[in-house]
Amino acid sequence: RAKADGRGTYRFFETGMDARAQARRLLEMDLRAALQRDEFEVFYQPIRDVASGRVVAFEALLRWNHPQRGLIAPIHFIPLAEETGLIVQLGEFVLRSACTDAASWPDDVDVAVNLSPVQFKSPNLIASVTEALAASGLDARRLELEITESVLLQNSEATLTTLHELRAMGVRISLDDFGTGYSSLSYLRSFPFDKIKIDRSFVSELATREDSMAIIRAVTGLGRSLGIVTTAEGVENDAQLELLRREGCTQAQGYLFSKPRPASDVAMMLEGPRLRASA
Ligand code: C2E
Ligand code: MG
Ligand code: MG
Ligand code: MG
Repeated sequence: RAKADGRGTYRFFETGMDARAQARRLLEMDLRAALQRDEFEVFYQPIRDVASGRVVAFEALLRWNHPQRGLIAPIHFIPLAEETGLIVQLGEFVLRSACTDAASWPDDVDVAVNLSPVQFKSPNLIASVTEALAASGLDARRLELEITESVLLQNSEATLTTLHELRAMGVRISLDDFGTGYSSLSYLRSFPFDKIKIDRSFVSELATREDSMAIIRAVTGLGRSLGIVTTAEGVENDAQLELLRREGCTQAQGYLFSKPRPASDVAMMLEGPRLRASA
C-alpha cells in the first residue's frame, strides 16, 4: 500500500512539474514574441524633492501590454526574463526608450532606469548605455541607473570596474531597495553611490512601527553624512511625507504623487499638484 501511495505521489509530482515546466516554456515563447511584436512599454513614476516639491526625476518601470492578458507588471515576467537571458534585450529596450523619452523633458528632470543583476554582468552593458545616450542625445548626467545589493554580493573586481566606468561617463548610480536583503553598510564603502533608495517596506510602516522610524532616521542621517541623496519609495500619504520631511529625507516617490503612467502623461505629471508647504 505504501508503495502504491508512493507511486501515486511520484506521478502526481511529476505531472505537477510537467505542467509548471510547460507553463514556463509557454511564457518564454510569449516573451520572445512580445519583443518582436513591440508589446513592451515603459511607464514613468515621478520622484519629488521633499523640500521644494519639484519633480526632479522619473523612474522608468517596464510594463507588458499583453494582447489577451492586458497590462502585466514586471514581477510576473522579469524573473523568467532573467533566467533565460532575455532581460538583456528587454533592458536595452528600457534604456533606449527612457533616454529617448527623457531627452524631450525639461533639462532639470532626470530619468532613473533599473538594471537587473544579469544585465549588469552582461558584457554589452557599457556599450548599450553608451548607445542609448548617443542615439537620444541625452546628457549622461541626467541618467541614473538603479542597482540592488545583489549586484554587489560577490563584490568582484569586475563589478566595481563597471560601476566606475559608468560613473566616468557621467551616469549616476543609485542603490535600490535599501534595507532589504543583505543590507550591509560595507556596500556603501565599496562604491560611492549617488543615491540610496529606502525600501517601501520601511515607509509603509513609518506611522505604526518605532523601529521603521529609527531605521529611516539612521539611513537619512547616513546619507547626509556621506553626501548621498536619500529617496523614500512607496510614499502613499501625507503623514508619511511629513515624517520623511522631518527626518531630512531628500526625495520621495509613491502613489501619493502618482502611480507609474505612460510617457504621454509625463507633461501632466510635471504640472501636477505641488507638495504642501512645509509645516
Ligand atoms: P523598484 O525598482 O523598487 O520600483 C518601485 C516599485 O514600487 C514599482 O513597482 C512601483 O510601481 C511601486 N510603487 C511605487 N510607489 C508605490 C506606492 O506608493 N505604493 C506601492 N504599493 N507601490 C509603489 P513595479 O513597477 O511593479 O516594479 C517592480 C519591480 O520590478 C521594480 O522595483 C524593479 O525591481 C523591477 N523593474 C521594473 N521595471 C524594470 C526594468 O525595466 N528593468 C529591470 N531590471 N527591473 C525592473
Ligand atoms: Mg527601482
Ligand atoms: Mg526600489
Ligand atoms: Mg522596492
